[in-house]
Amino acid sequence: MKLQLIYPKWPKLARQTEFHLPPHGPVVFAATLPKDVEVEFTDENLEEIDFKTEADLVAISMMLTAQVKRGWQIADIYRQKGIKVIFGGIATMLHAEETMAHADAVFLGEAEGRMEEVLADFKAGKLKPCYNYLNDPPDIAMVGTARRDILHDSLYTHKGLRMVDLVHASRGCRFNCYPCAVAYLGGRKFRPRPIDKTIAEMAAIDNNRLFVVDNSLAQNSKWQRDLFRAMIPLKKKWCCHPIEDKPEILDLAAQAGAWYVYQAVFDTSDYIRERIKRYHDHGIGVEGTILLGLDTHTEDSIRQLIDFLLEIELDLAEFTVLTPFPHTKAFDELHRQKRIFSYDWDQYTADQVVYQPKNMSAERLRELLDYAWDSFYHEESQSLKMARLFQKVVRKEMADGSFRPRRQRV
Ligand code: SF4
Repeated sequence: MKLQLIYPKWPKLARQTEFHLPPHGPVVFAATLPKDVEVEFTDENLEEIDFKTEADLVAISMMLTAQVKRGWQIADIYRQKGIKVIFGGIATMLHAEETMAHADAVFLGEAEGRMEEVLADFKAGKLKPCYNYLNDPPDIAMVGTARRDILHDSLYTHKGLRMVDLVHASRGCRFNCYPCAVAYLGGRKFRPRPIDKTIAEMAAIDNNRLFVVDNSLAQNSKWQRDLFRAMIPLKKKWCCHPIEDKPEILDLAAQAGAWYVYQAVFDTSDYIRERIKRYHDHGIGVEGTILLGLDTHTEDSIRQLIDFLLEIELDLAEFTVLTPFPHTKAFDELHRQKRIFSYDWDQYTADQVVYQPKNMSAERLRELLDYAWDSFYHEESQSLKMARLFQKVVRKEMADGSFRPRRQRV
């Protein structure tokens, strides 16, 4: 059978340099499909959808809230043609009930070991409206090697350079941060994949540069030590979300090829200053992820935060405004307080203000977002800072002999 797998487009951050990473959700999902399923994948961010393609079933994979309305439109078109549509992915879980109005079925949860049942129902003409495995994750050892072969590699380049490939070593997160839906989506239990399987998957990726997309690596010291030790011989270079702040672990991460981390910076404390310094001391770059508009933020504190970011010499920074995504503590609180004034999911891009901030107007917060981008990149442009970060990886590769001129696969 032929399955048309679609990743709907969404508007990128207006101030961020536009680039496209190969999507991870669809390739992980494709790995859960039985062998007899022929998959044709379209990333609508980079390709037009061919609505005339013959397909037995359409699957729409949604990661972001800003994708859902477009996903629904695509489904409506296919369903008018009489083709059944199933939805899955993170944003489907966040918007399940609304999505059901546009779907023949929605799949909630992790798909490993579950697609045989769904496809058998489809073939028997008995698709259920909802397959809900949200609180019943499969054995993490069942996670297979992602089907990167369905991607059109040549699309994922920036200025002629191939983008990083995405891979994950664990699921779940022990923490439950205010703006984040991971506790709802992946559970509060940290679930590492078997390290040998993860390493085999990384080794097989024909790209020396990876993005280890785990929610946070900083969840278990022994696991990090074991993972990083096993990664050292691969000589891959990689970026990731936070690494635990212990010298021994940072040292192993650096030996394993840690290139840079995405690190939330939410205040101007000495703790953050030291945290960033320790990454840098280990040769690991830092891209700050800076969320503006928390209830603790005033106009003055936001200005001070930007000065602080320049002072601690972050390599890059990405500024967004607080966005109350469904199933987060932020949504529950702001919704209860009647401070959310837009539920138009197209506006949930993280650079539009959809709620009433506590200490300023929504317009003022939007202006401060621009101020943040302008100030941080005033002395040195974003592309120059990106080039410096890129030089870092080339230096690391030259040092251990893993450098190879970028080959663009077609
Ligand atoms: S923000 Fe990161 S550390 Fe916090 S709950 Fe989400 S994934 Fe976990």
